Amino acid sequence: MAAPPFQPPSQQRRTEAATARPDGAAAGAVRCGVCGTESRQPPFRPPPPEQAPDLDLRPGEPVRGTMALWLQQCPHCGYAAPDIGRAHPGAAAAVSAAPFRALLAETSYPLLARRFLAWAHVLEETGALHAAAEATLQAAWVADDLNRPDLARAWRREAVALWRAGPPLDPEQTVRVVDALRRAQAWDDALATAEALARSRPPEPVAQVIGLERRLVEARDSGRHTLASALPPPARRPHVSHQRPPALGSSAGLGFGGLFERLRRFFRRGG
Ligand SMILES: [Zn+2]
Repeated sequence: MAAPPFQPPSQQRRTEAATARPDGAAAGAVRCGVCGTESRQPPFRPPPPEQAPDLDLRPGEPVRGTMALWLQQCPHCGYAAPDIGRAHPGAAAAVSAAPFRALLAETSYPLLARRFLAWAHVLEETGALHAAAEATLQAAWVADDLNRPDLARAWRREAVALWRAGPPLDPEQTVRVVDALRRAQAWDDALATAEALARSRPPEPVAQVIGLERRLVEARDSGRHTLASALPPPARRPHVSHQRPPALGSSAGLGFGGLFERLRRFFRRGG
């Protein structure tokens, strides 16, 4: 594969800092599952969530501010993934193909967003459409943070298209589709999707979030809102004895678990 080297500045610094061991492998290095190049990659363990997530399940702080650490990226071929040491058998073909190379070279996109889109592209090319939607939504979050509403809207619409291209969605995921449509200002589609979900008699927390989404759509509000604003204060609820950090880096892209898991976490925190 004649892939040109791709080296984001942060990775460059880490690569240079790598120290060679007698056996030839760099200490703490990861061998790229696509091209075999070794590079230093930052370890990342997500801190436990403290603030309520957004309606699209973007985690609250302190996890929210750690997006630069969610994905590793190979400094040689540009392959990006939660663990670049692992790659789908079809990943190498996707990474060497022109669309992926063009994406990496798209300087009008923020560098960190390109990393999430690169992962999304590999997921899409290897058939993991819902995970690709997740990674594309995460690129939109990067655009949110960098005040690029044009890109954020475009990538939210792409995420919705990927979700809809995959297997049928459960009610929790459909809520996130509605939120992505609302934040992309696709008002008619957001309202129609919300109403269809409401008619399906979803579980109560989903119905409450959908109720808020419909009010926001009717008010033409495309802003960020958290689950805390959708749900009533927790008066009495069962004690939850275990709490796990979000499953960043799961095989399903950066899956955050179901909405209910999120709700339980928030209730525990907020209660
Ligand atoms: Zn590589």
